[in-house]
Amino acid sequence: MTGPFIPRRAAFFHVEEGWTDGGGNGWGAARGEHAAARERMVRDQLERRGIHDGRVLEAMRKVPRHLFVDPSLGWRAYEDSPLPIGEGQTISQPYMVAVMTAALTLQGRERVLEIGTGSGYQTAVLAELAAWVYTIERIPALAEGAQQTLGRLKHDNVSTQIGDGSMGWPEASPFQAIVVTAGAPDVPPPLVEQLEVGGRLLIPVGSPHAQTLRRVTKRDGGVDQEELVSCVFVKLVGEHGWHDE
Ligand code: SAM
Repeated sequence: MTGPFIPRRAAFFHVEEGWTDGGGNGWGAARGEHAAARERMVRDQLERRGIHDGRVLEAMRKVPRHLFVDPSLGWRAYEDSPLPIGEGQTISQPYMVAVMTAALTLQGRERVLEIGTGSGYQTAVLAELAAWVYTIERIPALAEGAQQTLGRLKHDNVSTQIGDGSMGWPEASPFQAIVVTAGAPDVPPPLVEQLEVGGRLLIPVGSPHAQTLRRVTKRDGGVDQEELVSCVFVKLVGEHGWHDE
């Protein structure tokens, strides 16, 4: 890194940490506490449960999850659980973000479509690991909040859209990877169509109350499907999801 870059980063972290940590002992202490909490999250919740993809672990060590939740919940940001983000939606449990991201096996050159931006946290993790992330959120207030946070964190390889992600983003297709962060009754056909041959689609499929994380790999003339883990996500609401809230 060159000389002028260092003060700019320092000033940036000062602002961000002051914004989220109302009760800290100064910005340096708050930054250290969040970094230590992130390190514990990676070690105890991810590595000990079998997440070994070094790039995914590094991205989750880096992305400041506390900036994606309401400041009043910042102290809980590194807990082993989902948290409310308003509008009846949640930021996913860190372990589930890691499982889904690792299962996409990103190498760094991919164009990824994410359905369900929510807080923008998983978008930021994906943006660390892929060439470009296209993300769709149906609730405008959440989409706008996520866009602001991603902008503050200088993620400049993300395109956002407000709308029904169960239809995909045909103009930007094909994608090498697609991740759906809400539970669907079945795999939406437009998402399979918009996947490149060899591409991976991760989606929770099941009832509104319990799903199984499914990985669909597109092949010439068909798909392979694997069931990975049980999970519980909020509903994918839309044309190729659930029709009610
Ligand atoms: N990955 C997000 C994060 O890190 O904060 C969490 C996403 S939350 C579990 C699921 C999100 O999917 C919600 O914000 C919800 O509004 C959104 N959603 C549900 N149906 C959708 C649809 N058809 N298109 C786009 N977003 C949808």
